Amino acid sequence: MAVDLSTALGAMTGQRYIESLRDGREVWLDGEKVQDVTVHPAFSGMIHELARIYDLQHSQQFQDEMTFVSQETGNRCSVSWLLARTEEDLKKKKRNSEIWTGESWGQLGRSPDILAPFITALYKARANLSDVKNPHCDFGENVVNYQRYCAENDLFLTHALGDPQVDRSQQPQNEQRAILEEELALHVVEETKDGVIITGGKQLATAAPISHETYVSLSATFVQRSDPRFVLSFAIPTNSPGLKMVCREPVSQWTGSYGHPLGMIYDEQDCMLFFDRVLVPWGRLFMLYESGPLVQSFASGLNFMEWANLCRIHQRMRVMTAVATMIAESIGVIEYREVSAKLGEMITYTEMWQHAMDGVEHKAYMHEGGIMTLGSMSGLNIFFAQTSARMVQLLREIAGSGLIMQPSENDLANPELRPYLERYMRGKDVSVEHKSRLFRLAHDLAVSSFGMRQEIYEYWHGGDPNRNRINLLRSYDQSEIVGRIEELISKPLRHA
Ligand SMILES: Cc1cc2nc3c(=O)[nH]c(=O)nc-3n(C[C@H](O)[C@H](O)[C@H](O)COP(=O)(O)OP(=O)(O)OC[C@H]3O[C@@H](n4cnc5c(N)ncnc54)[C@H](O)[C@@H]3O)c2cc1C
Repeated sequence: MAVDLSTALGAMTGQRYIESLRDGREVWLDGEKVQDVTVHPAFSGMIHELARIYDLQHSQQFQDEMTFVSQETGNRCSVSWLLARTEEDLKKKKRNSEIWTGESWGQLGRSPDILAPFITALYKARANLSDVKNPHCDFGENVVNYQRYCAENDLFLTHALGDPQVDRSQQPQNEQRAILEEELALHVVEETKDGVIITGGKQLATAAPISHETYVSLSATFVQRSDPRFVLSFAIPTNSPGLKMVCREPVSQWTGSYGHPLGMIYDEQDCMLFFDRVLVPWGRLFMLYESGPLVQSFASGLNFMEWANLCRIHQRMRVMTAVATMIAESIGVIEYREVSAKLGEMITYTEMWQHAMDGVEHKAYMHEGGIMTLGSMSGLNIFFAQTSARMVQLLREIAGSGLIMQPSENDLANPELRPYLERYMRGKDVSVEHKSRLFRLAHDLAVSSFGMRQEIYEYWHGGDPNRNRINLLRSYDQSEIVGRIEELISKPLRHA
């Protein structure tokens, strides 16, 4: 199916991004329909921050690092959408991800840079997708066209992979589950000459209300279905008729200008998606009725994270470690053995992650689809799911009660209170204001609603860590070492 790139403008600008969100999308928050997400206080901080970063793509300082010139159209496009053909391309992509994650302090789990690799992963699997025949379209060709369309328009995607969390007592492929499936899970209800009509829910999609398009597919947990109508993978505009988004309670609405330095800006929102007879055009389907290629994409270790998530996690670890160190200094506890050891533990994880990043770069290879691909990261998302919570715990242990006991901005502005605050709430060689702002930052990492949402995100965003551990066990080749151990324990014991 042909794709029209004649109006494509390449790398997004801040203004274009903001205007693009005023498109009639159906977003619900706290029982009310949001008329314009760009001016609603629950979204506007995040939207304007993304607009700021989008503008960096056109700045003198970052343009060369964040964009490339498309050979097809001559547009300057975002490096997030660059298909890496060489090691140099991979390095360029790493630098771009460092900028995105550095500018957003490692807080954006689903920035535009992070979803692009999902489509790149599909692009790599395009031959397998084309192997599944459908009279209306070629799935592999659809992915290739979609990748070009996203790149040339610099689209911001969200994604939704899971079924609603209503009753997990039976696996979706279980026959007894069929009635519940029909009621809840996303499936095809009708085929038309234009595409398929779908109905059902998805739990959940981060950043959906502020995205351009939603990529919908099935995670490793849900991909095995007995009924083919439930197997589908596609992408459609966020304002598609019949698509409803229901937001969780925002963690962005706080008073004071520095009370919640991260939460006020980086609440990317999480939504339930309800599809009510939504049309998915044939040209937007990447798979239908056949789970084989999707299952294979998980089994083959196709990498959906790439630099974007690796750099983000590294940035987050560095921020947490640095904030913990500054806090320890600001209250004069850094020389205590236990505190120093805890900071050393945080640095250990940060360094380990750096070594892992070096390793996957060293093991980069040319994928059969002609795209340079980072080496295996099979254990990395599991490692971070367990390490992130530990780092939050260490930050809490180092900071003590100061994490919650800080004056507000208005307290500090009150001349009657101020002398007391300066006396009793200052730190070691730092003013009360400096200390308060530093601890408030830590509070947003380890205590606030925002901080807790981030921590929950880190645990779950790569899918259920236990499922991932089990899948890792099943795919991990231990035959060589098991063979040697078998040999060792089958030989007669040696006596002195
Ligand atoms: C902040 C946040 C953001 C997210 N963003 C996105 C997003 O943008 N896109 C997206 O697609 N997804 C997103 N997710 C969803 C994420 O992928 C899921 O949370 C994750 O896969 C776990 O699924 P679940 O939440 O439905 O938990 P459940 O699967 O319901 O698990 C609940 C508990 O039951 C256990 N359990 C469930 N099934 C079984 C079983 N068969 N056997 C044994 N134990 C079982 C689990 O281990 C867990 O302890 C996000 C999640 C969070 C928290």
